[in-house]
Amino acid sequence: MSTHGNSSPNQARVLVETLRPGIDRAAVAYPKPLVTVNCYLLTNGNAAVVVDTAAAPWETKDHVGVLLAHAGVRPQEVTAIVLTHCHRDHADGAAALQQLTGAPVVMHRAERFTLAEADERSRDSGALGAWMVSHGVPYDMAEDMAAAFRWTAPEAGIKRTLVEDGHEIQVGSSRWLAVHTPGHTPGHMCLYEPVGGVLVTGDHVLPNESSNISVRPDQPYDPLGAYLRALERVLALQPVLCLPGHGEPFADLSEVVGHQFQHHAARLDDVRATLSNGSRTGFEVAAGIPWVQRSKRLADLDDRHRFLAFGETLAHLECLEARGEIIRQGTDSVVWRRAA
Ligand SMILES: [Zn+2]
Ligand SMILES: [Zn+2]
Repeated sequence: MSTHGNSSPNQARVLVETLRPGIDRAAVAYPKPLVTVNCYLLTNGNAAVVVDTAAAPWETKDHVGVLLAHAGVRPQEVTAIVLTHCHRDHADGAAALQQLTGAPVVMHRAERFTLAEADERSRDSGALGAWMVSHGVPYDMAEDMAAAFRWTAPEAGIKRTLVEDGHEIQVGSSRWLAVHTPGHTPGHMCLYEPVGGVLVTGDHVLPNESSNISVRPDQPYDPLGAYLRALERVLALQPVLCLPGHGEPFADLSEVVGHQFQHHAARLDDVRATLSNGSRTGFEVAAGIPWVQRSKRLADLDDRHRFLAFGETLAHLECLEARGEIIRQGTDSVVWRRAA
C-alpha cells in the first residue's frame, strides 16, 4: 500500500493499494460525506480492465497512471474501460484514457438517459426550473436549485460500447458479468465475478451513505421501485467482497442493504404521513419530511442538496403511485393524494 500526495483537502490525495491478487484500487479523496471516489483495476495474466476512471473536484494527479504503474500494467495492456454509470465523479477522464489505451469504453445501454440529462443540464434551457415549478417549488427557488445543479456534458469525444444486462467482460481467464442495477441512474451496472464472489457496486450500494435516487424530467418511471428490486438482485448474488464507488470495500452486503431498505421504508412512511389529510405538491411533501439523518428541514439545505432532496421526494411519491397507494393529479400543476 502506498500513499501519494498529502492530506490537505485542497490538494490531490490518492491512495493506491492491492486489495487482493488481480484487484487494485486508486482511492481519490472526495468531498464529505463520501470521503473517496474509487477507480479499480482488474488484472489477470496480461489482461487489464479499468472500472470507473474516478474524479474529484480538487484532484490533479494522474491517479489512473499511478494505479497502472503500481500494478505493473502498461497502458496498451488495458483491454476495456468499464463505467458503472456516467456521473462525472466516475466517468471523467475516460475519453483521455481511451485515447491513451485504445480500449473500448463500456457502459449499459440505458446510460443514454443519463448522458441526455447531462446534455440538457449543460444548456440553460429553463426546462428543469419549469418542471420544479410544476411540482410546487417557488419560482425563484426553482431557478436557484436548477442553477446549482448545472452540469457539463461529460466526455463528448468518447467512443462508447453499449452493453446489456448479463454482458461478459473477460479479464484474462476470469469473467465479470454486467448486472444492470437501475435506480441511481437508469443504466447503472454492477460487475460480478462469481468464482471469487466479488461485486463492484458503483453507486448502487455505498457502505456509509444512501445512494441518491431521484425523479428527473424525461427519465424512466419509478426509479425507486427499480432500485429496490435491483438491491434484492445483488443481495441474491451473495458476494463476499464488495467494491463501492465511494468509501471502503466491505464484506457484509446484507447488512448494508438492510440499512438501505430501512432508510427507504422510513421515508416512504414519512411521505405517507404528509398525505394523511388532503393533497400536497411534491415541494410541500419534501418540506414536510426530515432530511440528513432526520436532523434538517428542507429550508436548512443549500440549493444543491435541496434539489437532491426534492428529486428523492418525487422518487418516493412515484414509488407509492406505482404501488397504487397514492394518486397524482394535474400536469402543469401536480398534486398528490392518497388513493381512496
Ligand atoms: Zn453517481
Ligand atoms: Zn458517485
